[in-house]
Amino acid sequence: MKKDHNQVWQSCLDVIKDNVSPQGFKTWFEPIKPVKLEDSVLTIQVPSQFFYEWLEEHYVTLLKKIIRKELGTDGRLEYSIIMENNLNNSNPYTIKVPTSNRKAVKNAPVNMPLDLGESPIKNPFIIPGLRKLNVDSNLNPNYSFENFIEGDCNRLARSAGFAVANKPGGTAFNPLLIYGGVGLGKTHLAHAIGIEIKNKYPEKTVLYVSSEKFTHQFIDAVRNNTVNDFSHFYQMMDVLIIDDVQFFSGKEKTQDVFFHIFNHLHQTGKQIILTSDKPPVEMQGMEQRLLSRFKWGLSADLQVPSLETRIAILKKKMYADGIDLPDEVVEYLAYSITTNVRELEGALISLIAQSSLNKKSINLDLAKQMIDKFVKNTAREVSIDYIQKVVCDYFDLPIELLKSKTRKREIVQARQIAMYFAKKMTKSSLASIGAHCGGKDHATVLHACRTVNNLQETDKHFRKYLEDLEKKLSIA
Ligand code: ADP
Ligand code: MG
Repeated sequence: MKKDHNQVWQSCLDVIKDNVSPQGFKTWFEPIKPVKLEDSVLTIQVPSQFFYEWLEEHYVTLLKKIIRKELGTDGRLEYSIIMENNLNNSNPYTIKVPTSNRKAVKNAPVNMPLDLGESPIKNPFIIPGLRKLNVDSNLNPNYSFENFIEGDCNRLARSAGFAVANKPGGTAFNPLLIYGGVGLGKTHLAHAIGIEIKNKYPEKTVLYVSSEKFTHQFIDAVRNNTVNDFSHFYQMMDVLIIDDVQFFSGKEKTQDVFFHIFNHLHQTGKQIILTSDKPPVEMQGMEQRLLSRFKWGLSADLQVPSLETRIAILKKKMYADGIDLPDEVVEYLAYSITTNVRELEGALISLIAQSSLNKKSINLDLAKQMIDKFVKNTAREVSIDYIQKVVCDYFDLPIELLKSKTRKREIVQARQIAMYFAKKMTKSSLASIGAHCGGKDHATVLHACRTVNNLQETDKHFRKYLEDLEKKLSIA
């Protein structure tokens, strides 16, 4: 049976949800209504012109891919925009714009096929042994040096990054390890270095990969007996950027394969760039030989930006998006959100979306109302108790059993998973996590984290549990 527009859009949303932040999903995708599906053209209704432009600006690649997946290569997306002066009209006048066109052309319905000219996704494993690699670098062009505001908080890391970009593999900063708290710009800076290298040395093979993706690729390679191809592929990079290496912790096999790749690249003068949420000395569950290599080059940290830097970041962002806000609103934002640039941007975006939805201009009052909600919502840290509750609900176990000393197999497993997430998602010490989970000591918690990591690498069902739980916990 053929799907109708509602079903198609629902499938699209399912994919979108996994690819955008919860905040972004709520703000930009929930308000969209599917209108019709005719000849592989899906029409969606968006609340305003601004909305349309925002989607085109920020989500066009994702939308293209999804539409193509859902509707085939002929698939197209059309927007129907509710015109601002027709708000009370039950049959709003709509205009159609193709996704490949940047600006909406008012009053003139245009139909153009989706531009599908982007390069197809390349499978690195298909052509092992080929010298000249044509690898998609996975770099986000928005994360450039240009867009990275300099401040005291990031001066060392930024200039080291710049030096590396000028002479990849040719400075003492190899590896370059960028570390710092969440949302402080590690990923951005890592991309910026990659982009700059690509600009200066187009022939160099640069690859950005998250440590999670690396891990999953490795697991797949183990399953498919292609570990050699996997290592070989990574050893051919001129510049390898691995984001969030802390996720390697406890994953011994992944660390092992990475160790060999690292050595090969380093010995052949290739550049390695790593990011992490903590400095090497504080990384737990990481093999000593790997940690000592992390310290070979330079570890540079990103600090929380000062008020001036936060204001400058907001202004840059507004400028890039062509948005104007009163200074007092910008300052209020920068005053209220102090520890995380991603949240700062999130607040700005929500504010703009709110005002676009309500057709209200942004003043200090609106900003205050919204930010207070926003700050309250995001300041919440997941607690151990909450994690235990989610895990118990998921496995349908009474929470008392989890906290008891019972050694029944399925309880032990749930308890270990709860410990694992507590370690991962809270700032609690191993000892206090143990105390919360049936009065165990820190060694038990450490053992639990290892067990979970190992099972995750080897057991598909177990990995699915973790993924489900992780989703439930992060939407909280
Ligand atoms: P991390 O990887 O450290 O968690 P990200 O690199 O994802 O953080 O940064 C979060 C957001 O903040 C990104 O949108 C990034 O562009 C922005 N950001 C962080 N630092 C800066 C900066 N110095 N200038 C401009 N934008 C920044
Ligand atoms: Mg990051």
